[in-house]
Amino acid sequence: MYKKIFYSLMFIIIMISLIQINNIMLNKVFIETFFDVENSREIILNGPKDKKVVALTFDDGPHPRYTPKILDLLEKYHAKATFFVIGKHVKLYPEVVKRQVLSGHEVGNHTFSHINIRTNSSNKIWKEFQDTQDIIYKVTGKKATLFRPPFGFYNNMIKNMASQAGCSVVLWSTHQDSKDWSSPGVDKIVNTVLNKTKNGDIILLHDYVEGKCHTIEALEIILPELKKKGFEFLTVSELLNLQEE
Ligand SMILES: [Zn+2]
Repeated sequence: MYKKIFYSLMFIIIMISLIQINNIMLNKVFIETFFDVENSREIILNGPKDKKVVALTFDDGPHPRYTPKILDLLEKYHAKATFFVIGKHVKLYPEVVKRQVLSGHEVGNHTFSHINIRTNSSNKIWKEFQDTQDIIYKVTGKKATLFRPPFGFYNNMIKNMASQAGCSVVLWSTHQDSKDWSSPGVDKIVNTVLNKTKNGDIILLHDYVEGKCHTIEALEIILPELKKKGFEFLTVSELLNLQEE
C-alpha cells in the first residue's frame, strides 16, 4: 500500500520536473529567437556606448490624457523622445501626434491595432504596418523610419517588410523593460530605469496603459535624475546617427 503511494508520488514529482524543464527550454528558444542580441545586427537594441545618451521610447499611444502630460514633462527637461504609435489611436487623436512632431520628437510605427505577428498572416501584418505608415504620414507629413513590432516579436518576414519600407526594426535594451504597462508601481519603474542605466540605452515605457498609469509619476523622478547624472535624451534616429559618426 505505502509502496504504491510512494511510487505514485515519485511519478508525479518526475512529471512535474519534466514539464518545468520543458518550459525552461521553450522559454530559452523563445528568447534566443526573438531577442538574439549578438546574431541580429538588423535589430536595434541600443545606441553607441561611448556617449552619455539615452533614448526614451513610449509605446501604444497616443493617449488623450497621458501623452500630453508626458509631452509637458519632456519639454520641462528639454528631452527628446520617440513615440511608437498605434495607427488606430493616431486616427482617434491626431492632434496629440501633431504636437509630438512639432515638439521635435520622433514618431515610429507600432502597427494599427497592436497585432500579434505570431498568430496572424503576413498579409494582415503587412496591411497593419502599411496603414500605420499611411496615417502617420497623413497626420504629420513625415514618413516613419522606425518600426517596433508589438511584444518585440520578429522574424525574417518582419525584418524584410521593414527594410523594404525603409524602416529600421527597433526593440529596447533588455535591462530597460520596467513593464510599466502592467501598473507595477512608480518605484518599480523608477528602479528598473535608474538602477542599470547605461550609455546608449533604449528605454521602454508606455503612454497608453489600460490599468492605472504610473509612468508619468515615474518620469517626474527619472528625468531630473538622469539629467543630474549627465545623460542627454535623444530620439532613436538621433541615437542611430551618432553611431554612424
Ligand atoms: Zn506595444
